[in-house]
Amino acid sequence: MKVVIIGGVAGGASAAARLRRLDEDAQIIILERGQYISYANCGLPYYVGGVITEESNLTLQTPQSFYERFRIDVRTNTEAIEIHTGDKKITVCNHNTGELYQETYDKLILSPGAEPIKPNLPGSDDNRVFTLRTVPDTLKIRAYVEQNKPKSAVVIGGGYIGMEMAENLKHAGLDVTVVEMAEHIIAPLDSDMASLVQHYARENGIRLILKNGVQALIPAKSHIEVQLSHGTLNADLVLMSVGVKPETAIAQKAEISCNSRGAILVDEHMRTSKPDIYAVGDAIAVTNFVTKQETYIPLAGPANKQGRIAADHICGRNVSFKGTQGTSVLKLFDMTVATTGIHELQAKQSNLDYDTIITYSPSHATYYPNAKNMMIKTIFEKQSGKILGAQLVGYKGVDKRCDVLATAIRAGMTAYDLTELELAYAPPFSSAKDPVNMIGFAIENILTGLVKKHHWYDIAKLPKDGSVILLDVRTDKEYEAGAIEGSIHIPLNQLRDRLHELDVSKTIYVNCRSGQRSYIACRILTQHGFACSNLSGGYEFYHAVTSEQQDERN
Ligand code: FAD
Repeated sequence: MKVVIIGGVAGGASAAARLRRLDEDAQIIILERGQYISYANCGLPYYVGGVITEESNLTLQTPQSFYERFRIDVRTNTEAIEIHTGDKKITVCNHNTGELYQETYDKLILSPGAEPIKPNLPGSDDNRVFTLRTVPDTLKIRAYVEQNKPKSAVVIGGGYIGMEMAENLKHAGLDVTVVEMAEHIIAPLDSDMASLVQHYARENGIRLILKNGVQALIPAKSHIEVQLSHGTLNADLVLMSVGVKPETAIAQKAEISCNSRGAILVDEHMRTSKPDIYAVGDAIAVTNFVTKQETYIPLAGPANKQGRIAADHICGRNVSFKGTQGTSVLKLFDMTVATTGIHELQAKQSNLDYDTIITYSPSHATYYPNAKNMMIKTIFEKQSGKILGAQLVGYKGVDKRCDVLATAIRAGMTAYDLTELELAYAPPFSSAKDPVNMIGFAIENILTGLVKKHHWYDIAKLPKDGSVILLDVRTDKEYEAGAIEGSIHIPLNQLRDRLHELDVSKTIYVNCRSGQRSYIACRILTQHGFACSNLSGGYEFYHAVTSEQQDERN
Protein backbone atom coordinates (compact mmCIF):
# COMPACT_ATOMS: atom_id res chain seq x y z
CA MET A 1 0.00 0.00 0.00
CA LYS A 2 1.29 3.45 -0.90
CA VAL A 3 0.06 6.35 1.25
CA VAL A 4 0.85 9.95 0.39
CA ILE A 5 0.33 12.66 3.01
CA ILE A 6 0.10 16.35 2.12
CA GLY A 7 1.34 18.45 5.05
CA GLY A 8 3.92 17.19 7.53
CA VAL A 9 3.13 18.93 10.79
CA ALA A 10 0.48 18.13 13.42
CA GLY A 11 -2.09 15.99 11.59
CA GLY A 12 0.18 14.78 8.80
CA ALA A 13 3.13 13.70 10.93
CA SER A 14 0.80 12.03 13.42
CA ALA A 15 -0.92 10.07 10.63
CA ALA A 16 2.40 9.03 9.13
CA ALA A 17 3.86 7.72 12.38
CA ARG A 18 0.67 5.82 13.23
CA LEU A 19 0.56 4.27 9.77
CA ARG A 20 4.05 2.95 10.21
CA ARG A 21 3.29 1.55 13.65
CA LEU A 22 0.37 -0.34 12.11
CA ASP A 23 1.95 -1.40 8.83
CA GLU A 24 5.67 -2.09 8.51
CA ASP A 25 5.29 -2.64 4.76
CA ALA A 26 3.39 0.46 3.67
CA GLN A 27 5.17 2.97 1.48
CA ILE A 28 4.62 6.32 3.19
CA ILE A 29 5.49 9.67 1.62
CA ILE A 30 5.04 13.08 3.25
CA LEU A 31 4.97 16.12 0.96
CA GLU A 32 5.69 19.28 2.95
CA ARG A 33 5.85 22.65 1.26
CA GLY A 34 7.88 24.23 4.03
CA GLN A 35 11.38 23.60 5.19
CA TYR A 36 10.41 21.89 8.44
CA ILE A 37 8.20 18.98 9.48
CA SER A 38 6.51 18.25 12.76
CA TYR A 39 7.47 21.61 14.25
CA ALA A 40 6.08 23.13 17.41
CA ASN A 41 3.59 25.69 16.01
CA CYS A 42 2.17 26.15 19.48
CA GLY A 43 5.59 27.14 20.81
CA LEU A 44 6.30 29.79 18.18
CA PRO A 45 5.17 32.86 20.20
CA TYR A 46 7.53 31.88 23.02
CA TYR A 47 10.56 32.04 20.72
CA VAL A 48 9.69 35.64 19.87
CA GLY A 49 9.55 36.50 23.59
CA GLY A 50 12.80 34.70 24.34
CA VAL A 51 11.18 32.09 26.62
CA ILE A 52 12.22 29.36 24.19
CA THR A 53 15.79 30.33 23.46
CA GLU A 54 16.96 27.71 20.97
CA GLU A 55 15.59 27.65 17.44
CA SER A 56 16.30 23.92 17.39
CA ASN A 57 13.71 23.42 20.16
CA LEU A 58 10.98 24.43 17.71
CA THR A 59 11.63 21.60 15.32
CA LEU A 60 10.71 18.28 16.87
CA GLN A 61 11.72 16.06 13.98
CA THR A 62 13.78 16.32 10.82
CA PRO A 63 13.23 14.36 7.59
CA GLN A 64 16.33 12.40 8.58
CA SER A 65 15.12 11.55 12.10
CA PHE A 66 11.70 10.62 10.73
CA TYR A 67 13.32 8.34 8.20
CA GLU A 68 15.56 6.70 10.77
CA ARG A 69 12.73 6.04 13.20
CA PHE A 70 9.87 5.32 10.84
CA ARG A 71 11.34 4.76 7.37
CA ILE A 72 9.08 7.49 6.06
CA ASP A 73 10.04 9.38 2.91
CA VAL A 74 9.71 13.04 3.94
CA ARG A 75 10.09 15.54 1.14
CA THR A 76 10.39 19.10 2.43
CA ASN A 77 10.26 22.19 0.18
CA THR A 78 7.93 20.02 -1.86
CA GLU A 79 4.44 21.18 -2.68
CA ALA A 80 1.45 19.21 -3.90
CA ILE A 81 0.11 21.34 -6.74
CA GLU A 82 -2.85 19.35 -8.03
CA ILE A 83 -4.73 16.18 -7.16
CA HIS A 84 -6.02 14.05 -10.04
CA THR A 85 -8.62 11.98 -8.25
CA GLY A 86 -9.59 9.97 -11.36
CA ASP A 87 -6.22 8.31 -11.88
CA LYS A 88 -5.05 8.74 -8.24
CA LYS A 89 -2.07 10.96 -8.98
CA ILE A 90 -0.69 14.18 -7.56
CA THR A 91 1.29 16.80 -9.43
CA VAL A 92 4.16 17.77 -7.16
CA CYS A 93 6.66 20.62 -7.31
CA ASN A 94 10.10 20.21 -5.80
CA HIS A 95 10.91 23.79 -4.84
CA ASN A 96 14.61 22.93 -4.35
CA THR A 97 15.01 22.14 -8.05
CA GLY A 98 11.86 23.58 -9.64
CA GLU A 99 11.10 20.08 -10.98
CA LEU A 100 7.45 19.09 -11.49
CA TYR A 101 6.59 15.41 -11.26
CA GLN A 102 3.66 13.06 -10.71
CA GLU A 103 3.25 10.88 -7.65
CA THR A 104 0.68 8.09 -7.48
CA TYR A 105 -1.17 7.04 -4.33
CA ASP A 106 -3.37 4.22 -3.12
CA LYS A 107 -4.54 6.36 -0.19
CA LEU A 108 -4.10 10.10 0.23
CA ILE A 109 -4.30 12.07 3.50
CA LEU A 110 -4.72 15.83 3.33
CA SER A 111 -3.38 17.78 6.31
CA PRO A 112 -2.59 21.17 4.75
CA GLY A 113 -3.72 23.14 7.80
CA ALA A 114 -4.98 26.70 7.88
CA GLU A 115 -3.49 30.00 6.86
CA PRO A 116 -3.72 33.29 8.73
CA ILE A 117 -6.50 35.49 7.42
CA LYS A 118 -4.89 38.57 5.93
CA PRO A 119 -7.47 41.31 5.59
CA ASN A 120 -6.99 43.16 2.36
CA LEU A 121 -5.79 46.33 4.07
CA PRO A 122 -3.83 49.01 2.29
CA GLY A 123 -0.26 48.94 3.61
CA SER A 124 -0.35 45.35 4.85
CA ASP A 125 2.49 44.33 2.54
CA ASP A 126 4.97 46.53 4.43
CA ASN A 127 7.88 44.51 5.84
CA ARG A 128 7.06 45.65 9.38
CA VAL A 129 3.68 43.90 9.17
CA PHE A 130 3.78 40.23 10.18
CA THR A 131 1.60 37.14 10.53
CA LEU A 132 2.55 34.04 12.49
CA ARG A 133 2.09 30.48 11.33
CA THR A 134 5.44 28.90 10.59
CA VAL A 135 8.98 28.70 11.93
CA PRO A 136 10.24 31.12 9.24
CA ASP A 137 7.50 33.62 10.27
CA THR A 138 8.78 33.41 13.85
CA LEU A 139 12.41 33.81 12.86
CA LYS A 140 11.47 36.87 10.79
CA ILE A 141 9.68 38.53 13.71
CA ARG A 142 12.46 37.77 16.15
CA ALA A 143 15.16 38.98 13.75
CA TYR A 144 13.21 42.18 13.17
CA VAL A 145 12.88 42.77 16.92
CA GLU A 146 16.57 42.10 17.54
CA GLN A 147 17.90 44.14 14.65
CA ASN A 148 15.52 47.10 14.61
CA LYS A 149 14.69 47.37 18.30
CA PRO A 150 11.06 48.41 17.70
CA LYS A 151 9.52 50.23 20.65
CA SER A 152 5.85 49.63 19.97
CA ALA A 153 3.64 46.94 18.51
CA VAL A 154 0.02 46.80 17.47
CA VAL A 155 -1.46 43.31 17.53
CA ILE A 156 -4.59 43.14 15.39
CA GLY A 157 -6.89 40.51 16.89
CA GLY A 158 -7.25 39.45 20.53
CA GLY A 159 -7.58 35.69 20.09
CA TYR A 160 -5.28 33.10 21.63
CA ILE A 161 -2.37 33.71 19.27
CA GLY A 162 -2.82 37.49 19.44
CA MET A 163 -2.74 37.49 23.25
CA GLU A 164 0.21 35.06 23.41
CA MET A 165 2.08 37.33 21.04
CA ALA A 166 1.06 40.42 23.02
CA GLU A 167 2.64 38.89 26.12
CA ASN A 168 5.76 37.82 24.26
CA LEU A 169 6.25 41.16 22.53
CA LYS A 170 5.89 42.78 25.94
CA HIS A 171 8.58 40.41 27.26
CA ALA A 172 10.72 41.51 24.33
CA GLY A 173 10.43 45.08 25.63
CA LEU A 174 7.78 46.60 23.35
CA ASP A 175 4.78 48.72 24.24
CA VAL A 176 1.88 46.58 23.07
CA THR A 177 -1.63 47.53 21.99
CA VAL A 178 -4.17 44.88 21.02
CA VAL A 179 -6.96 46.01 18.71
CA GLU A 180 -10.02 43.77 18.72
CA MET A 181 -13.10 44.27 16.59
CA ALA A 182 -15.42 42.22 18.84
CA GLU A 183 -16.65 43.52 22.16
CA HIS A 184 -14.18 41.35 24.06
CA ILE A 185 -10.96 39.41 23.58
CA ILE A 186 -10.72 35.57 23.44
CA ALA A 187 -13.80 34.48 21.52
CA PRO A 188 -14.34 31.15 23.36
CA LEU A 189 -15.05 33.15 26.54
CA ASP A 190 -18.30 34.91 27.27
CA SER A 191 -17.86 38.65 27.68
CA ASP A 192 -18.26 38.54 31.47
CA MET A 193 -15.45 36.00 31.86
CA ALA A 194 -13.34 37.84 29.27
CA SER A 195 -13.58 40.98 31.37
CA LEU A 196 -11.43 39.29 34.06
CA VAL A 197 -8.73 38.64 31.47
CA GLN A 198 -8.98 42.12 30.01
CA HIS A 199 -8.53 43.70 33.42
CA TYR A 200 -5.47 41.53 34.06
CA ALA A 201 -3.97 42.21 30.61
CA ARG A 202 -4.28 45.96 31.24
CA GLU A 203 -2.71 45.55 34.69
CA ASN A 204 0.22 43.93 32.93
CA GLY A 205 0.69 46.84 30.60
CA ILE A 206 -1.15 45.61 27.51
CA ARG A 207 -3.33 48.34 26.06
CA LEU A 208 -6.62 46.99 24.75
CA ILE A 209 -8.79 48.72 22.19
CA LEU A 210 -12.08 46.88 21.79
CA LYS A 211 -15.00 47.23 19.36
CA ASN A 212 -12.71 48.93 16.89
CA GLY A 213 -11.44 47.70 13.54
CA VAL A 214 -8.29 48.47 11.58
CA GLN A 215 -9.13 50.24 8.32
CA ALA A 216 -5.68 50.84 6.83
CA LEU A 217 -1.98 50.70 7.56
CA ILE A 218 -0.05 53.73 6.35
CA PRO A 219 3.67 53.00 6.27
CA ALA A 220 5.86 55.99 7.11
CA LYS A 221 9.64 56.03 7.35
CA SER A 222 9.84 55.88 11.13
CA HIS A 223 6.63 53.99 11.92
CA ILE A 224 3.37 52.55 10.61
CA GLU A 225 0.24 54.55 11.12
CA VAL A 226 -2.59 52.17 12.04
CA GLN A 227 -5.88 53.75 11.09
CA LEU A 228 -8.80 52.43 13.12
CA SER A 229 -12.52 52.92 12.60
CA HIS A 230 -12.22 55.33 15.52
CA GLY A 231 -8.76 56.85 15.94
CA THR A 232 -5.19 56.25 14.87
CA LEU A 233 -2.20 54.49 16.42
CA ASN A 234 1.49 54.53 15.55
CA ALA A 235 3.51 51.33 15.72
CA ASP A 236 6.98 50.11 14.82
CA LEU A 237 5.67 46.56 14.30
CA VAL A 238 2.21 45.24 13.40
CA LEU A 239 1.09 41.65 13.89
CA MET A 240 -2.04 40.53 12.08
CA SER A 241 -3.72 37.83 14.05
CA VAL A 242 -7.38 37.91 13.10
CA GLY A 243 -7.92 34.17 12.77
CA VAL A 244 -7.22 31.43 10.27
CA LYS A 245 -8.96 29.90 7.30
CA PRO A 246 -8.61 26.36 5.95
CA GLU A 247 -5.93 26.15 3.29
CA THR A 248 -7.86 24.01 0.86
CA ALA A 249 -7.46 25.48 -2.63
CA ILE A 250 -5.91 22.19 -3.80
CA ALA A 251 -8.86 20.19 -2.44
CA GLN A 252 -11.40 22.55 -3.93
CA LYS A 253 -9.71 22.32 -7.32
CA ALA A 254 -10.00 18.53 -7.09
CA GLU A 255 -13.74 18.98 -6.39
CA ILE A 256 -13.49 17.48 -2.93
CA SER A 257 -16.59 18.69 -1.05
CA CYS A 258 -15.99 21.69 1.18
CA ASN A 259 -18.35 23.94 3.12
CA SER A 260 -18.90 27.62 2.41
CA ARG A 261 -15.85 28.70 4.42
CA GLY A 262 -13.67 26.24 2.49
CA ALA A 263 -13.34 23.58 5.19
CA ILE A 264 -13.20 20.04 3.81
CA LEU A 265 -16.22 17.88 4.70
CA VAL A 266 -15.33 14.47 6.12
CA ASP A 267 -17.22 11.55 7.64
CA GLU A 268 -16.49 10.10 11.09
CA HIS A 269 -13.56 8.10 9.65
CA MET A 270 -12.03 11.30 8.18
CA ARG A 271 -12.98 10.25 4.61
CA THR A 272 -13.65 13.05 2.13
CA SER A 273 -16.18 12.93 -0.70
CA LYS A 274 -13.57 11.36 -3.02
CA PRO A 275 -12.60 7.68 -2.78
CA ASP A 276 -9.39 6.91 -0.86
CA ILE A 277 -8.82 10.53 0.14
CA TYR A 278 -8.87 11.43 3.81
CA ALA A 279 -8.52 14.87 5.40
CA VAL A 280 -7.62 15.96 8.94
CA GLY A 281 -6.68 18.96 11.07
CA ASP A 282 -7.24 22.65 10.52
CA ALA A 283 -8.37 22.03 6.94
CA ILE A 284 -11.61 20.26 7.89
CA ALA A 285 -15.04 21.06 9.26
CA VAL A 286 -15.82 19.17 12.47
CA THR A 287 -18.89 18.32 14.50
CA ASN A 288 -19.22 20.25 17.72
CA PHE A 289 -19.23 17.47 20.32
CA VAL A 290 -21.83 19.25 22.48
CA THR A 291 -24.28 20.73 19.95
CA LYS A 292 -23.63 18.16 17.19
CA GLN A 293 -23.62 21.06 14.73
CA GLU A 294 -21.02 21.52 12.01
CA THR A 295 -18.30 23.91 13.09
CA TYR A 296 -14.67 24.89 12.62
CA ILE A 297 -12.28 24.48 15.56
CA PRO A 298 -8.60 24.55 14.57
CA LEU A 299 -6.61 23.02 17.43
CA ALA A 300 -3.55 20.80 17.70
CA GLY A 301 -5.12 18.04 19.85
CA PRO A 302 -7.95 17.24 17.44
CA ALA A 303 -5.56 17.46 14.44
CA ASN A 304 -3.27 14.85 15.99
CA LYS A 305 -6.17 12.56 16.91
CA GLN A 306 -7.75 12.85 13.49
CA GLY A 307 -4.39 11.95 11.89
CA ARG A 308 -4.31 8.82 14.02
CA ILE A 309 -7.90 7.94 13.14
CA ALA A 310 -7.29 8.36 9.38
CA ALA A 311 -4.27 6.06 9.65
CA ASP A 312 -6.25 3.54 11.68
CA HIS A 313 -9.07 3.48 9.16
CA ILE A 314 -6.67 3.07 6.24
CA CYS A 315 -5.23 0.06 8.06
CA GLY A 316 -8.67 -1.49 8.44
CA ARG A 317 -9.41 -0.49 12.03
CA ASN A 318 -12.97 0.60 12.65
CA VAL A 319 -12.44 3.83 14.60
CA SER A 320 -14.28 7.10 14.37
CA PHE A 321 -13.94 10.75 15.39
CA LYS A 322 -16.80 11.88 17.61
CA GLY A 323 -16.34 15.61 17.38
CA THR A 324 -14.38 18.49 18.85
CA GLN A 325 -15.32 20.25 22.07
CA GLY A 326 -12.80 23.08 21.78
CA THR A 327 -10.83 22.40 24.94
CA SER A 328 -8.10 25.01 25.00
CA VAL A 329 -5.82 26.81 27.40
CA LEU A 330 -3.91 30.08 27.33
CA LYS A 331 -1.11 31.41 29.49
CA LEU A 332 -1.19 35.18 29.84
CA PHE A 333 1.67 36.28 32.09
CA ASP A 334 0.83 34.40 35.31
CA MET A 335 -2.82 33.92 34.46
CA THR A 336 -4.34 30.77 32.98
CA VAL A 337 -7.47 30.94 30.86
CA ALA A 338 -9.10 27.67 29.83
CA THR A 339 -12.31 26.66 28.11
CA THR A 340 -14.06 23.46 27.17
CA GLY A 341 -17.42 22.71 25.58
CA ILE A 342 -19.74 25.52 24.62
CA HIS A 343 -20.01 29.01 26.04
CA GLU A 344 -23.24 30.72 26.97
CA LEU A 345 -23.66 32.54 23.67
CA GLN A 346 -23.41 29.24 21.79
CA ALA A 347 -25.94 27.65 24.14
CA LYS A 348 -28.29 30.56 23.42
CA GLN A 349 -27.71 30.41 19.66
CA SER A 350 -28.33 26.65 19.69
CA ASN A 351 -31.63 27.18 21.55
CA LEU A 352 -30.55 24.90 24.37
CA ASP A 353 -32.44 24.86 27.63
CA TYR A 354 -29.41 25.83 29.69
CA ASP A 355 -28.41 27.67 32.82
CA THR A 356 -25.09 28.96 34.13
CA ILE A 357 -23.35 29.18 37.47
CA ILE A 358 -20.26 31.07 38.57
CA THR A 359 -18.10 29.53 41.28
CA TYR A 360 -15.04 31.08 42.87
CA SER A 361 -12.76 28.53 44.46
CA PRO A 362 -9.20 28.36 45.76
CA SER A 363 -6.66 26.30 43.83
CA HIS A 364 -5.80 24.43 47.03
CA ALA A 365 -6.44 24.51 50.79
CA THR A 366 -6.20 28.16 51.80
CA TYR A 367 -4.17 27.41 54.92
CA TYR A 368 -1.37 26.08 52.73
CA PRO A 369 0.71 28.94 51.25
CA ASN A 370 0.06 30.51 47.85
CA ALA A 371 -3.48 29.36 47.18
CA LYS A 372 -4.99 31.39 44.32
CA ASN A 373 -8.65 31.68 43.49
CA MET A 374 -10.12 30.71 40.15
CA MET A 375 -13.39 31.92 38.64
CA ILE A 376 -15.32 29.17 36.84
CA LYS A 377 -18.39 29.67 34.70
CA THR A 378 -20.21 26.41 34.02
CA ILE A 379 -22.97 25.99 31.46
CA PHE A 380 -25.36 23.12 32.18
CA GLU A 381 -28.60 21.67 30.89
CA LYS A 382 -31.42 23.05 33.02
CA GLN A 383 -33.42 19.88 33.53
CA SER A 384 -30.78 17.18 33.70
CA GLY A 385 -27.80 19.14 35.03
CA LYS A 386 -25.64 17.76 32.19
CA ILE A 387 -22.42 19.75 31.85
CA LEU A 388 -22.24 21.54 28.48
CA GLY A 389 -19.28 23.86 28.87
CA ALA A 390 -16.92 25.62 31.24
CA GLN A 391 -14.70 28.69 31.22
CA LEU A 392 -12.00 29.05 33.84
CA VAL A 393 -9.88 32.08 34.67
CA GLY A 394 -7.29 31.98 37.41
CA TYR A 395 -3.73 31.00 38.10
CA LYS A 396 -2.62 27.69 39.56
CA GLY A 397 -4.62 24.54 38.93
CA VAL A 398 -6.90 26.00 36.24
CA ASP A 399 -5.66 23.65 33.52
CA LYS A 400 -6.27 20.60 35.71
CA ARG A 401 -9.87 21.59 36.51
CA CYS A 402 -10.50 22.37 32.85
CA ASP A 403 -9.29 18.90 31.92
CA VAL A 404 -11.52 17.24 34.52
CA LEU A 405 -14.50 19.19 33.18
CA ALA A 406 -13.51 18.34 29.59
CA THR A 407 -13.52 14.68 30.58
CA ALA A 408 -16.90 15.11 32.29
CA ILE A 409 -18.34 16.65 29.12
CA ARG A 410 -16.92 13.80 26.99
CA ALA A 411 -18.49 11.28 29.34
CA GLY A 412 -21.87 13.06 29.31
CA MET A 413 -21.70 13.67 33.06
CA THR A 414 -24.15 15.77 35.05
CA ALA A 415 -23.62 18.08 38.01
CA TYR A 416 -24.73 15.20 40.22
CA ASP A 417 -21.82 13.17 38.85
CA LEU A 418 -19.41 16.02 39.63
CA THR A 419 -20.45 15.92 43.29
CA GLU A 420 -19.30 12.29 43.41
CA LEU A 421 -15.93 12.63 41.66
CA GLU A 422 -13.13 11.52 43.93
CA LEU A 423 -10.23 13.76 42.98
CA ALA A 424 -6.68 13.80 44.30
CA TYR A 425 -6.35 15.86 47.45
CA ALA A 426 -3.58 17.01 49.72
CA PRO A 427 -3.34 20.66 50.89
CA PRO A 428 -0.69 21.79 48.35
CA PHE A 429 -2.85 20.54 45.45
CA SER A 430 -6.53 20.96 46.18
CA SER A 431 -9.19 21.10 48.87
CA ALA A 432 -11.07 18.11 50.21
CA LYS A 433 -13.92 19.50 48.13
CA ASP A 434 -12.21 20.22 44.84
CA PRO A 435 -13.37 23.23 42.72
CA VAL A 436 -14.95 20.69 40.35
CA ASN A 437 -16.90 19.10 43.23
CA MET A 438 -17.95 22.62 44.26
CA ILE A 439 -19.45 23.21 40.81
CA GLY A 440 -21.45 20.01 41.26
CA PHE A 441 -22.65 21.03 44.74
CA ALA A 442 -23.62 24.52 43.60
CA ILE A 443 -25.64 23.26 40.63
CA GLU A 444 -27.20 20.45 42.64
CA ASN A 445 -28.35 23.00 45.24
CA ILE A 446 -30.09 24.96 42.50
CA LEU A 447 -31.60 21.96 40.72
CA THR A 448 -32.96 20.49 43.93
CA GLY A 449 -34.45 23.83 45.00
CA LEU A 450 -32.25 24.46 48.04
CA VAL A 451 -31.33 27.90 46.76
CA LYS A 452 -32.23 30.34 43.99
CA LYS A 453 -29.57 32.35 42.23
CA HIS A 454 -29.28 35.54 40.26
CA HIS A 455 -26.51 36.91 38.08
CA TRP A 456 -24.45 40.08 38.07
CA TYR A 457 -26.52 41.49 35.21
CA ASP A 458 -29.80 40.98 37.12
CA ILE A 459 -28.80 43.52 39.76
CA ALA A 460 -29.20 46.53 37.44
CA LYS A 461 -32.70 45.31 36.51
CA LEU A 462 -33.98 45.13 40.11
CA PRO A 463 -36.53 47.78 41.15
CA LYS A 464 -34.97 50.69 43.00
CA ASP A 465 -38.19 51.68 44.85
CA GLY A 466 -37.36 49.74 48.00
CA SER A 467 -39.58 46.78 47.11
CA VAL A 468 -36.62 44.37 47.22
CA ILE A 469 -33.63 44.13 49.55
CA LEU A 470 -29.98 43.82 48.54
CA LEU A 471 -28.16 42.19 51.45
CA ASP A 472 -24.39 41.95 51.78
CA VAL A 473 -23.23 39.39 54.37
CA ARG A 474 -19.48 39.97 54.17
CA THR A 475 -17.38 41.35 57.03
CA ASP A 476 -17.33 45.05 57.93
CA LYS A 477 -13.90 45.45 56.37
CA GLU A 478 -14.93 43.84 53.11
CA TYR A 479 -18.14 45.88 52.90
CA GLU A 480 -16.36 49.15 53.61
CA ALA A 481 -13.87 48.45 50.81
CA GLY A 482 -16.68 48.45 48.25
CA ALA A 483 -20.21 47.11 47.91
CA ILE A 484 -23.13 46.91 45.51
CA GLU A 485 -24.90 50.24 45.44
CA GLY A 486 -28.00 50.23 47.64
CA SER A 487 -27.07 47.07 49.54
CA ILE A 488 -27.56 46.85 53.29
CA HIS A 489 -24.99 45.10 55.42
CA ILE A 490 -25.44 42.34 57.98
CA PRO A 491 -22.36 40.13 58.42
CA LEU A 492 -23.26 36.45 58.12
CA ASN A 493 -22.43 35.60 61.74
CA GLN A 494 -24.92 38.25 62.97
CA LEU A 495 -27.71 37.31 60.59
CA ARG A 496 -29.70 34.97 62.86
CA ASP A 497 -29.82 37.66 65.58
CA ARG A 498 -30.80 40.47 63.21
CA LEU A 499 -33.50 38.81 61.10
CA HIS A 500 -36.05 41.22 62.61
CA GLU A 501 -34.34 44.05 60.67
CA LEU A 502 -35.46 42.45 57.39
CA ASP A 503 -38.94 42.82 55.89
CA VAL A 504 -40.27 39.31 55.30
CA SER A 505 -42.59 40.56 52.54
CA LYS A 506 -39.65 41.56 50.33
CA THR A 507 -37.39 39.31 48.26
CA ILE A 508 -33.80 39.47 49.48
CA TYR A 509 -30.90 39.39 47.00
CA VAL A 510 -27.91 38.23 48.97
CA ASN A 511 -24.23 38.51 48.18
CA CYS A 512 -20.90 37.76 49.81
CA ARG A 513 -17.51 37.75 48.15
CA SER A 514 -17.75 34.44 46.29
CA GLY A 515 -21.28 33.09 46.74
CA GLN A 516 -20.46 30.63 49.54
CA ARG A 517 -21.29 32.66 52.66
CA SER A 518 -24.32 34.11 50.90
CA TYR A 519 -25.48 30.54 50.20
CA ILE A 520 -25.37 29.87 53.95
CA ALA A 521 -27.26 33.14 54.47
CA CYS A 522 -29.88 32.04 51.95
CA ARG A 523 -30.35 28.76 53.77
CA ILE A 524 -30.85 30.63 57.07
CA LEU A 525 -33.28 33.08 55.45
CA THR A 526 -35.24 30.40 53.62
CA GLN A 527 -35.72 28.39 56.78
CA HIS A 528 -37.04 31.52 58.50
CA GLY A 529 -39.61 32.11 55.77
CA PHE A 530 -37.84 34.73 53.65
CA ALA A 531 -37.78 34.63 49.84
CA CYS A 532 -34.18 35.07 48.74
CA SER A 533 -31.65 34.58 45.99
CA ASN A 534 -27.87 34.13 45.95
CA LEU A 535 -25.58 36.22 43.71
CA SER A 536 -23.70 33.79 41.46
CA GLY A 537 -19.96 34.46 41.66
CA GLY A 538 -20.50 36.96 44.47
CA TYR A 539 -19.26 40.53 44.70
CA GLU A 540 -15.88 39.49 43.33
CA PHE A 541 -17.37 38.65 39.92
CA TYR A 542 -19.94 41.47 40.00
CA HIS A 543 -17.25 44.02 40.73
CA ALA A 544 -14.82 42.61 38.16
CA VAL A 545 -17.39 42.67 35.35
CA THR A 546 -19.04 45.99 36.16
CA SER A 547 -15.77 47.84 36.74
CA GLU A 548 -14.40 46.50 33.45
CA GLN A 549 -17.51 47.87 31.73
CA GLN A 550 -16.84 51.19 33.45
CA ASP A 551 -13.16 51.12 32.30
CA GLU A 552 -14.31 50.59 28.73
CA ARG A 553 -16.70 53.54 28.90
CA ASN A 554 -13.90 55.80 30.20
P1 FAD B 1 -0.43 22.39 10.26
O1 FAD B 1 0.18 21.93 11.54
O2 FAD B 1 -0.53 23.86 10.05
O3 FAD B 1 0.38 21.73 9.07
C1 FAD B 1 0.01 21.96 7.75
C2 FAD B 1 1.25 21.84 6.88
O4 FAD B 1 0.83 21.58 5.54
C3 FAD B 1 2.03 23.14 6.81
O5 FAD B 1 3.37 22.93 7.25
C4 FAD B 1 2.01 23.54 5.34
O6 FAD B 1 3.25 24.04 4.90
C5 FAD B 1 1.72 22.21 4.66
N1 FAD B 1 1.04 22.36 3.37
C6 FAD B 1 -0.07 23.08 3.09
N2 FAD B 1 -0.42 22.93 1.80
C7 FAD B 1 0.51 22.09 1.24
C8 FAD B 1 0.68 21.56 -0.07
N3 FAD B 1 -0.15 21.86 -1.05
N4 FAD B 1 1.74 20.75 -0.27
C9 FAD B 1 2.59 20.43 0.73
N5 FAD B 1 2.46 20.91 1.97
C10 FAD B 1 1.42 21.72 2.24
N6 FAD B 1 -3.30 24.70 18.93
C11 FAD B 1 -3.48 24.25 20.18
O7 FAD B 1 -4.25 23.31 20.38
N7 FAD B 1 -2.83 24.82 21.23
C12 FAD B 1 -1.97 25.85 21.08
O8 FAD B 1 -1.38 26.35 22.06
C13 FAD B 1 -1.78 26.36 19.77
N8 FAD B 1 -0.93 27.40 19.56
C14 FAD B 1 -0.71 27.81 18.28
C15 FAD B 1 0.18 28.86 18.09
C16 FAD B 1 0.45 29.30 16.82
C17 FAD B 1 1.39 30.45 16.62
C18 FAD B 1 -0.17 28.67 15.71
C19 FAD B 1 0.13 29.13 14.30
C20 FAD B 1 -1.07 27.64 15.89
C21 FAD B 1 -1.35 27.21 17.19
N9 FAD B 1 -2.25 26.17 17.43
C22 FAD B 1 -2.46 25.73 18.70
C23 FAD B 1 -2.99 25.52 16.33
C24 FAD B 1 -2.30 24.24 15.91
O9 FAD B 1 -0.98 24.52 15.62
C25 FAD B 1 -3.03 23.67 14.69
O10 FAD B 1 -4.34 23.38 15.07
C26 FAD B 1 -2.39 22.41 14.16
O11 FAD B 1 -1.04 22.61 13.86
C27 FAD B 1 -3.12 21.94 12.90
O12 FAD B 1 -2.48 20.85 12.33
P2 FAD B 1 -2.57 20.57 10.78
O13 FAD B 1 -1.79 19.34 10.53
O14 FAD B 1 -3.97 20.63 10.35
O15 FAD B 1 -1.88 21.82 10.09
